[in-house]
Amino acid sequence: MRRPRWLGGKAPAPELPPLDTPARAMVVMAHPDDAEFVCGGTVAKWCAEGCEVTYVVVTGGDKGTHDESMHPEKLAAIREEEQRAACRALGVKECVLLGHPDGHTVDEEELRGLIVRLIRIHRPEVIITWDAFRRGFNHRDHRNVGVLTADAVYPLVRDRLAYPRDEEDGLASHQVNEILLAGSDDPDYAVDVTEHWERRLEAVLCHASQIGGRTRADFLRMRDEQIARQGHARLEERFRRWSIRRPPPPRAPR
Ligand SMILES: [Zn+2]
Repeated sequence: MRRPRWLGGKAPAPELPPLDTPARAMVVMAHPDDAEFVCGGTVAKWCAEGCEVTYVVVTGGDKGTHDESMHPEKLAAIREEEQRAACRALGVKECVLLGHPDGHTVDEEELRGLIVRLIRIHRPEVIITWDAFRRGFNHRDHRNVGVLTADAVYPLVRDRLAYPRDEEDGLASHQVNEILLAGSDDPDYAVDVTEHWERRLEAVLCHASQIGGRTRADFLRMRDEQIARQGHARLEERFRRWSIRRPPPPRAPR
């Protein structure tokens, strides 16, 4: 039996209602291709339902190869094109590539301020980013982008005295109410992307330098294997969901 809260037990998390499709959303990721793999179906769904989605991709992904003839500048240029093509396939409104060096993302003031500024410019209701707090190995770019974005959302974007240059430039403070953390050990929120899975696949296939020669047929076979394994045809993307303002619990009847 669950121990009551006053005895140190953990109260059950209040059930959160499903997210309405936001009017504006932002996806903050470390590398070109991260978003398509972890939340491409959710982005495709939201774009199809009229949401304006902005991507912020922190690094150029310029180390992501085993090709001995490749060099970083060339790879970054290829991956930028791949990311822009994937955004077009999904219907993403704007893609901001910050071009930091792959593998060297640092949780530091300047980059944090830039993420704050981009959030104040684009004013998303929901942000998807990496879960910085997963156990075990986690790519340092994923971890640091997750920390930078979480810190930007709470409380820096909201507080007008944080990064006051934004206000001088006419950018108001902003409240982001929801973060969906991708790659979580402990997801508690699922988006049904069954109807949008094929569009997600179109976007994944744009990342030709990253998919090791896999074809559409390979991905379709992997999907069918997953459906057979799980015993139903629903395809989901799963997240840890943080809501800054929780909806009030239902009132007890008098
Ligand atoms: Zn990545």
